[in-house]
Amino acid sequence: MTANAIKDLRKALLDWYDANARSLPWRTEPGEATRTDPYRVWMSEIMLQQTTTVHAAPYFHAFTARWPTVGDLAAAEDADVMAAWAGLGYYARARNLLACARMVADEYDGVFPDTEAALLRLKGVGAYTAAAVAAIAFGRAANVVDGNVERVMSRLFAVKDELPAARPELKRLAGLFVSDHRPSDWPQALMDLGARICRPKSPLCEQCPLSFGCAAFKQGDAQSYPRKAKKAERPHRLGHAFVLRDGKGRVALIRRPDKGLLGGMLGLVGSEWSAAPEYSPPFAADWAEAGTINHVFTHFSLDLTAHVATGQADDPALIWIDEAEALASLPTVFRKALERALA
Ligand code: SF4
Repeated sequence: MTANAIKDLRKALLDWYDANARSLPWRTEPGEATRTDPYRVWMSEIMLQQTTTVHAAPYFHAFTARWPTVGDLAAAEDADVMAAWAGLGYYARARNLLACARMVADEYDGVFPDTEAALLRLKGVGAYTAAAVAAIAFGRAANVVDGNVERVMSRLFAVKDELPAARPELKRLAGLFVSDHRPSDWPQALMDLGARICRPKSPLCEQCPLSFGCAAFKQGDAQSYPRKAKKAERPHRLGHAFVLRDGKGRVALIRRPDKGLLGGMLGLVGSEWSAAPEYSPPFAADWAEAGTINHVFTHFSLDLTAHVATGQADDPALIWIDEAEALASLPTVFRKALERALA
């Protein structure tokens, strides 16, 4: 795309934004000389992570009414802030919000730093938020790239590479549009386009101010962008667990090695977990199959077959524990297998 084409697209989007900008509680009007208070921009960006504008708006009003400055928020009681955040979800954000406000109050005399690099050092402020605050509050020419911007760029340029590998290229393409001309309005214009016109499903290309220069629109397959890599299927494994009962209400457990999955936790004696584990009972006993439970770990799913027997085993590694206590102490996968064995 030529520099002139970029310029034309920028002008078209900013003109559209002047006429169609969403009215949001943390915004000033497009082109307005007075920039938005960085405290309000920062708070809105933290609240909008994982949350819609409609859901975040009443919280934004309540927070800024109760704590109008970053100094007021820094001095707030933790419990008050957490209670005010209730219902907004992802509570680590509220803890980071407070920690960040205290950093700004203590280390920056209550004044938000005005560069991306300095903003990035604040607690809970990632690359996107730092760029957004630098651009919107301080008029810095920052490359503000979130999922909306990635989607618009992937369509404008018909980027065939799949996400997430395409991310650096999409960021580079977004950077072509960054300019000292209206740096505060540009990211907000892109955000509004992504929210209202270049939507993930059913983009409204016929109403789009950028359609004249959009490769995906010309191809007629806008919705197929951004291309996404298929998620790898979770592998499936099998295993056997052996529940030895002593006939006095106790069951034999082991302590798992410190390293690895469920490291250091109590567990049942058992086989390896693999595509075809060997069935080899660890002790001679009259083993009976009790059934199979399924458990899903982050990286694989497991069918674990429980076997049960009553007897003794002379093995110092075994930890004999009351059955009720064992049920309360085992990690979920083993608790499910023990429940099946005891049923
Ligand atoms: Fe998105 Fe369609 Fe506009 Fe292209 S023309 S930027 S696909 S809404």
